[in-house]
Amino acid sequence: MSTPQAEPSFRQSVDLMFNRAAALMDLSPGLEQKIRVCNSTYTVRFGVRLRGQMQTFTGYRSVHSEHMEPVKGGIRYSLAVNQDEVEALAALMSYKCALVEAPFGGSKGGLCIDPRAWDEDELEQITRRFAYELIKRDLIDPSQNVPAPDMGTGEREMAWIADQYARMNTSDINARACVTGKPLNFGGISGRVEATGRGIQYALREFFRHPEDVAAAGLAGSLDGKRVIVQGLGNVGYHAAKFLQAEDGARIIGVVEHDGGIFCDTGIDIEALRNWILRHGGVKGFADGEFIENGAKLLEADCDILIPAALEGVINLSNAQKVQAPLIIEAANGPITSGADQILRAKGTVIIPDLYANAGGVTVSYFEWVKNLGHIRFGRLQRRQEEARHQLVIDELDRLSVALGDAWSLSPGFKEKYLRGADELELVRSGLDDTMRTAYQAMREVWHARADVEDLRTAGFIVAIEKIAASYRSKGL
Ligand code: GLU
Repeated sequence: MSTPQAEPSFRQSVDLMFNRAAALMDLSPGLEQKIRVCNSTYTVRFGVRLRGQMQTFTGYRSVHSEHMEPVKGGIRYSLAVNQDEVEALAALMSYKCALVEAPFGGSKGGLCIDPRAWDEDELEQITRRFAYELIKRDLIDPSQNVPAPDMGTGEREMAWIADQYARMNTSDINARACVTGKPLNFGGISGRVEATGRGIQYALREFFRHPEDVAAAGLAGSLDGKRVIVQGLGNVGYHAAKFLQAEDGARIIGVVEHDGGIFCDTGIDIEALRNWILRHGGVKGFADGEFIENGAKLLEADCDILIPAALEGVINLSNAQKVQAPLIIEAANGPITSGADQILRAKGTVIIPDLYANAGGVTVSYFEWVKNLGHIRFGRLQRRQEEARHQLVIDELDRLSVALGDAWSLSPGFKEKYLRGADELELVRSGLDDTMRTAYQAMREVWHARADVEDLRTAGFIVAIEKIAASYRSKGL
C-alpha cells in the first residue's frame, strides 16, 4: 500500500500544477521561477471603532505578477482568509488573465471577517477603512491595481471602494476604473453579476461542441438532459445552474450548501431553491427534494457533470477516489487539490480547470474597466445606426415580398429580431462568449497536439505561462 500523502497548502497546490506544465516547456529556470513566485503581499491590521470599542481587522492584498498592469483580482471577505490563500488566488488570477487575454497581471485581496456578523453601516465603515489603507499604497488604483468582488463581497462593497477612491483622488478623471463589479448606476456594466456563471455555461457549451473532448469524458451528445450536481448556490453556482437548466436543458439533480444537500433525480427548481436559501439561510426544509445531512456526500454521487462553485480544496485526497462524475468544471478557484487532481486524472475524469472555467468574471470586469476609461456605454454610438442599416434591408425584403405575392414572405418574428441593434448586455455576452470559445480552443489545441500533455489544466497552464513569458521576454527580461 502506498503511504498516505499529506495535502499541500492551497498556494503549494497551485505551484505544483504550475510546475507540471512548466516542466513540459522550454523556459529558462530563472524565468520559470520569476513567473511562479508571488511578487508581494501587503498585510494590514487596522482598527475601526464599532459597538463601543476598537475592533482590529486583518486584511491582505497580494500582487502575484506585474508583467502587465494594472493587476487584477477580487477582494474576499471570509474568516478563512489568510496569506497563503490570498497568494494562491493572486497566482490563479495571473494565469487566468493570461489565458483569456485580459490585459492584466494577477492580484487578490482578502479581509479576515465574517460579513454576516456585522450590519450594513458597520460593513461600510470597515470596507472604507480597508480601502483607505490599500488606496494610499496604490493597491487600489485604475492604472495599478483594480479589485473586484469575490466571496463575501459584491456590488455594494465595490461602490463603497469606488467612492472612497474618488474622495481621496478628487481630480482623477478615471476614478471609477479603480474597481470593477460596481452597481450599474455607479459605473458598472450590464451582465457583470451573472458573468462568472454565464462563463461556466459558455465554457460547457464550447466543450460540448467538440465530440472528441466529450468522448474523452465518456459522455456523448449535448448538454440537453445531462445530470448536474452543483456545490454552492452563491452568485456563481446559482447563475451557472440557472442558465444551464433554463437555456441548455441540463437537469440539476443535486445542490450542496453549507448546511447539507438537496437531491432530486427529476431535477431541482433552482429559482425556488435559491429563494428558499435566501429566506432560510440554508437548504434544510426545502420540500422538493431529498435532504442530505452530509451534503459533501453529493460530491461523490453519480452524475454527468459536477460543478464545485464554492470553496477551494473541497475535492481532496479524502474523497477524490470516490468522485463518480466523469466531467468536473471548476467554477470556484482551486476546488480540486493537486493530489486530488492526480487521482482524478488517473481515473480518467476530465476536468475543465478553474483558470479557464471561472474566467468569465474577470473578462466582464475587463469590459467594465474599458467602459470606465472610455466614459461611454458600449453600443451607445452605433446601435441606432446599425438599426437604420438593418431597416434598409428589411425595406428591400418587403418590396420583394410584395412583388412575389403569396409565393414568399418573411418568417414570423424575423423583422423584430433583425431590426434590433445590440444593447450593452448583448455586447457583453457576445464578448464573453467569444472569449470563452477562443480560450478553450487554445487549450484544447495544446491538449490534443502534444502527446506529453494529458489534461486540460496542464494545457491551460502552458498557454497562460507562454503568454506571460512572452510578455517578460518582450520587456527584455
Ligand atoms: N474574483 C473574481 C475571480 O476570482 C473576479 C476577479 C475580477 O473580476 O477582477 O476571478
